[in-house]
Amino acid sequence: MHKSNLFFISLGPGDPELITLKSLRQLERSDMIFCPGTHTLSGTFRSRSKEILDQLGIDERKVIVFNVPMSKQRDAAHIAYNEIAYKLMEIYREHNDSKIISVVAEGDCGFYSSTHYISEILMQEGVEVNHIAGVPAFLACAAAVNLHITKQEETLEVVPGIVTEEQLLHDLKEKKTIVIMKVSLSETVLKAFLTAHPQYSYSYFENVGLDNEYSTTNSAEIQARKIPYFSIMIIKNEE
Ligand code: SAH
Repeated sequence: MHKSNLFFISLGPGDPELITLKSLRQLERSDMIFCPGTHTLSGTFRSRSKEILDQLGIDERKVIVFNVPMSKQRDAAHIAYNEIAYKLMEIYREHNDSKIISVVAEGDCGFYSSTHYISEILMQEGVEVNHIAGVPAFLACAAAVNLHITKQEETLEVVPGIVTEEQLLHDLKEKKTIVIMKVSLSETVLKAFLTAHPQYSYSYFENVGLDNEYSTTNSAEIQARKIPYFSIMIIKNEE
């Protein structure tokens, strides 16, 4: 049973085939779909979520793209999320729960998703929402190279960008598999780590599931990359 007609729908990491049936059906049933986009460094406006919706054949007329400033301007991003949360609430209340209103998120909507700001505001304001689970990017990365991300007694550690050599060494000593999201935030530390500790195995991914997908396990290649925002690194201690 749904708690309301407000949904947070997970789209999967980019490959339109990696959306769940439940998310797809909910998109098709939605009357309005709010979709985040941003101005890229090159100045163009891009919404990866909208690109996924287009590939899935979702009717454009019900899609409302909103602008979220780049992550470096956190305050501006918060203002944008705040605005969209209150707009959603207004539309939702105006229709008295009779219209299905959705917000989409890349990957899984409950896993480092900036839509959590919107969801939290709505819940604080007493508006019930529904989250629909999806495939997070790191699992699509592992699958892209047939990597068994954790097995048997292994523990998984997911790090949201900022890493230190000390922490990595500690986790690897305990044989944890480390997934680093937002690799670009720690580009320098990670590249130095790779050189200093060649005994560990490094799998690096960019834009998994998209046309410009790239992955490598070769340290020299990783060193030479200019790390984009949509990248993930998986480090294992297989000694
Ligand atoms: N909710 C998303 C995570 C969003 S945080 C999920 O469930 O996966 C944004 C980070 O996710 C990026 O910095 C990058 O580390 C990762 N990411 C998302 N999509 C990706 C993709 N297609 N390829 C590689 N990394 C991706």
